[in-house]
Formats: sequence, structure tokens, C-alpha cells
Amino acid sequence: MLREELPRIVTDTLPGPRAAEVIARRARAVPSAVRCSYPVVIRRGEGAMVEDVDGNRFVDWVGGVGVLNIGYSHPEVVAAVKAQADDYFHAMANIVTHEGYVSLAEALAERAPVVGERRRTFFANSGAEADENAVKIAKAFTGRPNIIVFSGAFHGRTLLTMAMTAKKAYAKGMGPFPDGVYRSEFPYLYRAPGALEGDAAISYYLDRLEETFENASLPEQVAAIVVEPVQGEGGFIPAPPAWVKAVREICDRYGIVLIADEVQCGYARTGRLFASEYWAENGVRPDILTAAKSIAAGIPLSAVVAREEIMESVPAGVIGGTYCGNPLACAAGLKVLEIIERDDLAGRAIRIGETVMARYREWAQRFDVIGDVRGLGAMVGIEFVRDRATKEPFSELVTGLVDEAARHGLLIESAGTYGNVVRFLAPLVITDGQVDAGLDILEKALVSRLAKLRG
Ligand code: PLP
Repeated sequence: MLREELPRIVTDTLPGPRAAEVIARRARAVPSAVRCSYPVVIRRGEGAMVEDVDGNRFVDWVGGVGVLNIGYSHPEVVAAVKAQADDYFHAMANIVTHEGYVSLAEALAERAPVVGERRRTFFANSGAEADENAVKIAKAFTGRPNIIVFSGAFHGRTLLTMAMTAKKAYAKGMGPFPDGVYRSEFPYLYRAPGALEGDAAISYYLDRLEETFENASLPEQVAAIVVEPVQGEGGFIPAPPAWVKAVREICDRYGIVLIADEVQCGYARTGRLFASEYWAENGVRPDILTAAKSIAAGIPLSAVVAREEIMESVPAGVIGGTYCGNPLACAAGLKVLEIIERDDLAGRAIRIGETVMARYREWAQRFDVIGDVRGLGAMVGIEFVRDRATKEPFSELVTGLVDEAARHGLLIESAGTYGNVVRFLAPLVITDGQVDAGLDILEKALVSRLAKLRG
């Protein structure tokens, strides 16, 4: 069974001959703006493993960038989707009601740790759509025009979410953008100015937020503050609990809606079904939560959950869409939740994260290019720098690691404002042997790349 196997490269070159042919066709048929530099053409995927069209086997630590927390082709999800397809696979929510939609809406409303007892769920198709709708809902509820987002944030590629996303390379030539999107500084503690730490660092970042109210938008004009509980594209940076608590207080003071974007960090990844459950354990809850990626194991689906009072403030017809809450996606979504809870994948995330962190911390003793190791549960980032004192990003090393790891059967991806972080987002059904095999490949790649770069 592929799901139990270890990585194995059998071709002399990568991509192998059949993969090379498909990649060449892709280069002619698909815009190169849809970037892909991996030498992999998938034939099948099981658990955390991918087999390519030439018989090479890779252990996948990217998991579709957080889409595959329950792994490729989980047999029970496959069966649920097939059964649904036999009955019907489209039922537009504005025309007919299908029970899967209602059941999944109920299940998410029950589980999302948002403020309020009576909650409702709105479905969309992608993370960007969920975030954009969350902002629309917050605007409807507050009657206010502006939002605040953060440095390092990634919220998607629609026009509004491009404006919300920090990295402007993702929005090159796409302006003008929607107005009313203002940015404050995210507490990226590793890079806090003046090496500030602890309470002093938190105060610094809270001052920046207050400054945004002075310089960009009065708080009374702010509909929502949007936070990723663990920044994904920004470099796997957990929002510090003390900062989140203070942001919640600021939201309460000014009547601002707090939105938790759990598109990448949600769905058992961090050791809880939702990362903001950690907030709730600390006495803080978001008003709106968005989820996507892993919620339907790869069938496009996203969700926005909020208390009834917020959801019911939206005028009829202002939110919706043809495919929102698609029956195949909802059937997959219900099965995904069942599996995550039955198999305690959140607990598994904690254990996997401990193994990966322990190994990374051991490397940090040996390799002075490791500036920081951080994360929550099985969302682990390792940040590479040329010099620990200056913290100059070592992006070239990470680009090399991604390439070299793939050549030995490990798929990893970079993250971070400077592209100098390697992210760990492996499916949570990964075996211990596959975690260890991946760590061995990455360690060897690190040794060999450093030797090449440093001569
Ligand atoms: N929000 C976060 C935190 C994400 O990581 C992403 C995608 O990586 C998005 C939103 C956008 O999701 P999608 O690509 O499904 O539109």
C-alpha cells in the first residue's frame, strides 16, 4: 500500500521521462504565472505519499499547502463522495435544500469557537472567497467601511483579498485596489525591532495598531480586524496569546469585529480542530471564523461561521454563489470531521509537531544558519539566516533545499516574507517512518547545500 511506503526515486533523472513529457505540455498549455518548479506529475496519492507517472515515490510535507490534513484519497472520504455522486452532485442552495449542507453547517457552527451561542455557517468555494465574505458580513453588521490587516498576511488573490494580502509581488500590476484596507504590523517576534522581547515587544506591536487608528482609520470606522492565528505564507508565525487578548479588548472597546482566518492553520493542524480554540482557552474568541483547504479533503469548499446576530445582519442576496456548499464537498466535509475526531488527528498533530520540532532544535545546535524554529502543533516553520546576529534571510539556501529534497523524494515548500522559511504541513496521517525519512532527507540536503554554498 502506497500509504505505508517510504520515498523512493527510481528514475535516473527527475522529472522522469513520462513526467518530463507532461511538464513540457503544461509549459505550452498553462500560463506560467501558475508557478510550479517541482518535477512531479502525480499518478496517485495515498495518505502522505505521492507516486508519480514514472513510479517515483515522494513523501509530501506540503499537502496541497494545508489541504490534505487527512491525507490523499482517504478511503472513507472516497466512498462518501462516490455515494453522494450516485444520488446527485449539484443542488444550488438558492433553489433546493440538501441535507449535507445543513448537517455540515450545524457541525461547524457547533465546533467553531466564535463568540455567541447561536451560530450560523455560510459556505463558499475557496479561502479567498471565505475571507472576502467574512469582510462583507462584518461590514453589513457594523455598517462601517474599513478593515485592518497585518504585515505578512495572506488572504488570497481576489481583488479584495489581494488588497488584504501583504506581499505585493502577488498583486503586481493589479491596482487600483478596493479602498479601506489598512495594514498594521504583525507581531513577528523573531524580528521585533531592537530585539524587543516579552511584554515590551507586545506593547510595541499594540502601539503600531493604535497608530493605524490615528494615521489610517479612526477605530469607529473599522468594521473588522483580520488575524491569522498562525500566519501561513507569512512564515509560520503564531500570534502571541497576550497580543491576541489585547486585540480582542481593542475590538470590544470600539465595536470592531475580530475575524480569525483559519484557512491554512485550521482543521486539526495546530493540535486543535481550530487554532483559535487556543485563544478560547485563554478567554478570547473571534467573532467570525473562516475555514477552507482541509475542510473537504481537496474538494473545493470554504466556510464562514459567526453568531446569528452577525449573520442575520446581511441583506438578502448579498452573499451566495452557484457552487457554494456543493453536495460532493459537503459529503466529503462531513466525513472529514468524523475522521478527524474519531482518529484524534489533533492529538496526532501535537505528537508529529514534537518530533519535528525536536529534530529542528537539535539541528539549530549544529547549523548556525538556523535562526528560528517555531510553530503550533504540526504547523512548524524553520527560518534560515546567513548570520544569526544580523538575521539576514538566507533565501537562496531554502530555494536549494526545496529542489534537493524533491530530488531525494521529499516535497517541501518555502514560506515567509523573504522566502527563507521551510514549512511543515504534512498530512496528519503520515506514518512515523515517513516523518523520519523526510527529516533524514532534509538534513542531508541541508548538509550538501551548505557545502555547495559555502564552498
Ligand atoms: N487565507 C490564508 C491564511 C491562506 O493561507 C490562503 C491560501 O493559502 C488563503 C486565505 C486563500 O485561500 P485560497 O487559495 O483557497 O483562495
